Amino acid sequence: MSATLPEYALNRRRFLTALLASSAALAFGDLALPRAAHAAASGPFTLPPLPYPEDALSPAISARTIGFHYGKHHQGYVSKLNELVAGTPLAEQSLEAVIKATAGKVDQSAIFNNAAQVWNHTFYWNSLRPKGGGKPSGAMAELIEKSFGNHDKFKAELAKAATSQFGSGWAWLIKDGDKLIVTKTGNADTPIAHDQKPLLTIDVWEHAYYLDYQNRRADYVTAVLDNLINWDFAAQNLSAA
Ligand code: MN
Repeated sequence: MSATLPEYALNRRRFLTALLASSAALAFGDLALPRAAHAAASGPFTLPPLPYPEDALSPAISARTIGFHYGKHHQGYVSKLNELVAGTPLAEQSLEAVIKATAGKVDQSAIFNNAAQVWNHTFYWNSLRPKGGGKPSGAMAELIEKSFGNHDKFKAELAKAATSQFGSGWAWLIKDGDKLIVTKTGNADTPIAHDQKPLLTIDVWEHAYYLDYQNRRADYVTAVLDNLINWDFAAQNLSAA
């Protein structure tokens, strides 16, 4: 009887010691795992902060759309790009340099697609702003008149590019020599891969509008043009172009 208790106590102590050790291991594991996961997920490229709160573009674009689009899609391209360039010389280069180095190379299309999507989305968030839209002033207004005839014709041309892009892609306002042009690109393709100078973009991938507009891409494009276009950003790009 007298041996039972010490043995029980000993076993219990062993059990507790083992339990504590495994708890410590678990606790350490809990601390170590996110660190490791973070290390794996981090890399040379980071998700830039959204220039406004997620609900700031509502009702033209809902907080729910921005939450998925920025938090999942844009972040996903950043994470995937970091995975793909890890340990390669591309990890040391700027995002623009990675895009230009991989453009048109079939064996590097995954890197190009993710890098270009990171760049395009950052450019897109900045192309929008709360209480945007309307008409620009100054040099931009003059260039639009010179290039398209008037503002309504410009709007119609950008809307046409955005709605006629077949499948996923982007519509762009671009500085081309001494005038402006409207273009569209498919999937991840980006003007900077072609040494063009973009001023504005509209994302026309379904993930940009489907939660809010379902199949009505034209309604999304109209809402963006009327309420969200950031002409200050376009003007900054124009003066830098
Ligand atoms: Mn997108």
